[in-house]
Amino acid sequence: MNIHEYQAKALLRDFGCPVSDGRAVLKAEEAKTAAGALDGPLWVVKAQIHAGGRGKGKFKESDAGDKGGVRLAKSVEEAAEEAKKMLGRTLVTHQTGPAGKQVNRVYIEDGSDIARELYLALLVDRQTSSISFVCSTEGGMDIEEVAANTPDKILSFSVDPATGYQAFHGRRIAFSLGLEGKQVKACVDLMAKLYRAFVEKDMEMLEINPLIVMPDGALKLLDAKLSFDGNALYRHSDVLALRDETEEDPKELAASKHDLNYIALDGEIGCMVNGAGLAMATMDIIKLYGAEPANFLDVGGGATKEKVTEAFKIITSDPNVKGILVNIFGGIMRCDVIAEGVIAAVKEVGLKVPLVVRLEGTNVEKGKEIIANSGLNVIAAEDLADGAEKIVKAVKG
Ligand code: GDP
Ligand code: MG
Repeated sequence: MNIHEYQAKALLRDFGCPVSDGRAVLKAEEAKTAAGALDGPLWVVKAQIHAGGRGKGKFKESDAGDKGGVRLAKSVEEAAEEAKKMLGRTLVTHQTGPAGKQVNRVYIEDGSDIARELYLALLVDRQTSSISFVCSTEGGMDIEEVAANTPDKILSFSVDPATGYQAFHGRRIAFSLGLEGKQVKACVDLMAKLYRAFVEKDMEMLEINPLIVMPDGALKLLDAKLSFDGNALYRHSDVLALRDETEEDPKELAASKHDLNYIALDGEIGCMVNGAGLAMATMDIIKLYGAEPANFLDVGGGATKEKVTEAFKIITSDPNVKGILVNIFGGIMRCDVIAEGVIAAVKEVGLKVPLVVRLEGTNVEKGKEIIANSGLNVIAAEDLADGAEKIVKAVKG
């Protein structure tokens, strides 16, 4: 789960991290009061969307101006003006995709003077089975670009989970970032706070880009992106309360409410599969036969008829879906339950695209019988390859 920058900063402030004072604003009328509560002489107005690259982004509407999603202002009035231009408009960045994201709130912040912009991230590193700090002197801009062109400028330090964070980690990071004197101690202290926040709140990723050095040498988090481990959210009601459902894909949101493992993709073949491995294999084989999957979906082992119905509804609600492949290996899951769920769903939402069903395993005969007797126009498939070939043919001709 992701949260907004202003929420991330508030959370990190509670852990003692240095961030600027700021106010989140939902309505243009509130912008002037919000900006007026800050000291100035520089204000920053920042679009709050769950995507990075806002500074270099572009608004779709011309009345939003051509300045991107992070704007500097020299007065309260100017800050309020910029907030008004951004609210309700659609910001497109390299992370939003061409459709962009509507800006429903902005964050007005006390502007900082910047001497250096650094990059810092914390993540769960599967390669080393530990939490790693990733840092670079090349902060502020596209870190993907730095990784592609000058990968040696990105350094990684993993923390042994048995010992946890130690001061030497912080010193190594400080030296690699070219920090000196008092800044080294400040860095050691800041990294300890970030590590503690990361572990205590069960984060998956924490990215500070830029971490700035100010002209007086102090460090500050100028941007903050946090994402949390969905499997641990049950023990963080405070984090869960920060969820902004308007930022999430409505299909993925519906799926999470029904405890379905669903990821929306850009292709044309909707897939309903049980088991994550089989779901991955199904996506692969759809590609092999020349089409693209519209989603990843693992309905799980013990899915009920209701769950299968919900899953089918979510798949058909995607306007890009031109055909559906149901691929079930009934182990714990029974083929007749799947068949009943598919039929119930089709009766409820209708079927406007070709449907190929491949069933195998527990109660397969019963499942096939239910489908055959349903009177629905379902194409039966014998195995994985046959199913993929048939659905691609049905969609592409
Ligand atoms: P992003 O583009 O979504 O990553 O948004 P950021 O919060 O990282 O802001 C983009 C850029 O705006 C930063 O790299 C800074 O160069 C600039 N910026 C953001 N806040 C301030 C500020 O308080 N003062 C100044 N001078 N520049 C800022
Ligand atoms: Mg940034």
